[in-house]
Amino acid sequence: MEKKELLYEGKGKKIYSTNDEYVYIAEFKDDLTAFNALKKSQEDGKGALNCKITTELFKLLELNGIQTHLVEKLSDTELAIKKVDIIKIEVVVRNIATGSLTKRLAIDDGKELPFTLVEFYYKDDSLGDPIINDEHCLILNLVNDVKELDVLRAMGRKVNDILKPFFYEKGLTLVDFKLEFGKDKDGNIILADEISPDSCRFWDVKTKEKLDKDRFRQDIGNVKVAYEEVLRRILGENR
Ligand code: UDP
Repeated sequence: MEKKELLYEGKGKKIYSTNDEYVYIAEFKDDLTAFNALKKSQEDGKGALNCKITTELFKLLELNGIQTHLVEKLSDTELAIKKVDIIKIEVVVRNIATGSLTKRLAIDDGKELPFTLVEFYYKDDSLGDPIINDEHCLILNLVNDVKELDVLRAMGRKVNDILKPFFYEKGLTLVDFKLEFGKDKDGNIILADEISPDSCRFWDVKTKEKLDKDRFRQDIGNVKVAYEEVLRRILGENR
C-alpha cells in the first residue's frame, strides 16, 4: 500500500491518503497532550504501544460483532483503516465516576455507578469538547436522526460489555473510555479512532494503581511503563 498525502494531523495521530480511495493510513504519534492540549509532552514508543493496543482491542471487538475501521496493521506505528466520515460526537462510557463527571456533579471519585453511563461530547477543540444532549446533536446536524444516536449508545454499551469483563480477567478495572465513530462508504456506522490508555482509564483491580493517561495528566510519572503493562495484560499475561 502506498502512503500518499498527509490529510490531517490530530493530537495523537496523522492520517494519510493511499493509492486505494477507500483506505487511509493512521500513524500513531509519540505526543502526549492533556487539558485540551494545554499540557504537552512526548514519550518515545507511546505511538507504537497505542497502535498495538488498538489493533488487539479492535480485533477482539470485530470477533464479537463490532465493525471497526481497522483493515490491517502495517508497521509498529501504522494502521491501514477504512475511510470514514467521522461523526463529531465523542461517546464516553463510564462504569466508575472519576474525571470530569466528579467535578461537574460532585459525585465521589471512585464511586461505582449504579448502571453504565453513556454521554455525548461535541468533538470541537475550539469549544473544549462540551457535553451535549440528543437535541444538541440534532440541532448541530451531527447525525441524521435520533436512531443514529441510539446506534451510538448501543454500540458504546456493547463495547463496554465486551471489554469490561475482558480487562477484569486481566486484573484491570475498565473505569471509563471514549469512542469515536464514522460512516463508511455504504453509510454504516462503524467504530473508528483508537482504544488505548490515551482514551481509556484502567485501574489495577488489586492495587487501584492508575495505568493510563491520568499518569501524565496528574504528573504521576512512568507513563510508558504503565502503557506497556496494559499491553502485557491484553496479550494474556495475567497478574
Ligand atoms: N477522553 C478522551 N478524550 C477527550 C476527553 C476524554 O479520550 O477529549 C477519555 C478520558 O481518557 C476518559 C474518558 O474519556 O477515559 C472520560 O473523560 P472525562 O470526561 O472524565 O474527562 P477528563 O477528566 O479527561 O477531562
